[in-house]
Amino acid sequence: MNFDEKLEIILDKCQILKNESMKKHTSLKIGGTADYFISINDENELLNLLKLCKEFKKKYFIIGNGTNILVTDKGFRGVVIKLKFENVNIKISENEGIIEVGSGYSLIKLSKLALENELEGLEFACGIPGTIGGAIRMNAGAYGSEIKDILISTRFIDTEDEKIKELPLELHQFSYRNSIFAQKPYIILSTKIKLKKGSKLQIKSKMDQNFESRKLKQPIEYPSAGSTFKRQEGIVTAKLIDELGLKGYSIGDAQVSTKHAGFLINKGNANFEDMNELIEKVKEKIYNRYKIKIELEILIVGER
Ligand SMILES: Cc1cc2nc3c(=O)[nH]c(=O)nc-3n(C[C@H](O)[C@H](O)[C@H](O)COP(=O)(O)OP(=O)(O)OC[C@H]3O[C@@H](n4cnc5c(N)ncnc54)[C@H](O)[C@@H]3O)c2cc1C
Repeated sequence: MNFDEKLEIILDKCQILKNESMKKHTSLKIGGTADYFISINDENELLNLLKLCKEFKKKYFIIGNGTNILVTDKGFRGVVIKLKFENVNIKISENEGIIEVGSGYSLIKLSKLALENELEGLEFACGIPGTIGGAIRMNAGAYGSEIKDILISTRFIDTEDEKIKELPLELHQFSYRNSIFAQKPYIILSTKIKLKKGSKLQIKSKMDQNFESRKLKQPIEYPSAGSTFKRQEGIVTAKLIDELGLKGYSIGDAQVSTKHAGFLINKGNANFEDMNELIEKVKEKIYNRYKIKIELEILIVGER
């Protein structure tokens, strides 16, 4: 039996998309096709799919909401795996709430759930459009808080021995936009977070402020992947880009946002080549002026 035949034994046909455009699955709306785009509903399905990929030597890539990646025009020759793990379980006591949540759950939905249950600590995440899995991998953060501040532990598959393991907070190796999950071939299954009991009014007001600030400062009306570059030690990269007068600088439909210099946006029909050239131009100009090598925060995925 070939890969396709075996796939249809372990999964339902409706979970398998072939030659799927990655434009549909990324917030930047850029990228060629993935050979397979497979939605996975539970951990057993995932383990079976990983075994099959191993048997047929297929490359795979775990996607969350695709809000921190730039896919190449040649696309991904392998299997993109979308984890639909959206189970959520809340235990509330007098002073706190413990939420156990599947890695595919949206961070925006999770912050709303926290608000409904009068739990504080997720206000920073109410406008981050990723999944909790993607957020743990890169220690997503905003307004002075990060995922690491609320995390208790994470369950994951170690793909080296195909075992399910659990990692306590202190072993996550969290740092700025980084964690052990960005270094090792681990697939996040679920996580446990801890939030404090708070006042619904105050939580809502903080979330509203964060939303307003995003609307005002970020080009949320255009496809983007958030901040394209990492901040450097003590340096706000967006400020350097702004100082160089690069707001509005474009290559094709890829543009340094006129609203926020840290966001490179797709004005409509940008392709990978446009966006990549723009990234390289910004890096080069920063280096020529400040002698600083800036690093990408977003991840490039696919064949070059
Ligand atoms: C408008 C906008 C605003 C944003 N604002 C912020 C912000 O304020 N702060 C911030 O930190 N980020 C921000 N981002 C970036 C992005 O939303 C976050 O980085 C988010 O955490 C990425 O999650 P995702 O599910 O989209 O991950 P994806 O982009 O799908 O994937 C990113 C990486 O995580 C890996 N990954 C995803 N799920 C898993 C899993 N279950 N197991 C293992 N690896 C996994 C992928 O393989 C990939 O390497 C913004 C993006 C946009 C478009």
